[in-house]
Amino acid sequence: MQRCIFRRVVQQFSFREQETTKGVLSGFPTTTTTTAAAASGRRSKSSVPDVRERTLIAVKPDGVHRRLVGQIIQRFEQRGFKLVGLKMLKVPEDLLTQHYCQLRSKPFFPRLLEYMSSGPVVAMVWEGHKVVQASRLMVGHTNPAEAQAGTVRGDFSFHVSRNVVHASDSLEGAQREIQLWFTGKELMNWDCCDQSLTCEL
Ligand code: UDP
Ligand code: MG
Repeated sequence: MQRCIFRRVVQQFSFREQETTKGVLSGFPTTTTTTAAAASGRRSKSSVPDVRERTLIAVKPDGVHRRLVGQIIQRFEQRGFKLVGLKMLKVPEDLLTQHYCQLRSKPFFPRLLEYMSSGPVVAMVWEGHKVVQASRLMVGHTNPAEAQAGTVRGDFSFHVSRNVVHASDSLEGAQREIQLWFTGKELMNWDCCDQSLTCEL
């Protein structure tokens, strides 16, 4: 009996390297559905859509300098999202240029690159149901002056040029950014002990 319980606990916490799917690594949601069960309308565990959307969140240099990393991580953990990638880096200029390629023609672009390379950045990949949309709401308006209280930018910043955190703005953006910032090996596929409550909805 004890051995059986132990085995179940080990299974729950085990990493799922072999189950790595392209969809998960790419940041796109994946849905696993057993066709027969779906057709029969049964909601067995295997028939529950397993949505694993991912997004890139980065604490910018001002956030790291101001020791806000812990508080920002806490918000995502508290919300029920799962951390699947984390690293601290001085971001190379070519990565920044690619990351912000759509803003290349903006007058603030050179200052943005200067700001983003002014210190270390903590880059993370978070996974969960509708995590892209939810994290944009949690992070708040690009301009902190317009960000609502309760959002990261609304609580910790006041100027657009020092807005503490980055969050991908769409599924396609998340996919592109995750592939830019992380290698597949740097991302961890693992099951939370509360997986059935937070991830398999
Ligand atoms: N930014 C800036 N001045 C502006 C607009 C944007 O310095 O007038 C910076 C700011 O750091 C912002 C980043 O450029 O977070 C990327 O801009 P984007 O429009 O993609 O906003 P975000 O997706 O970060 O909310
Ligand atoms: Mg953006």
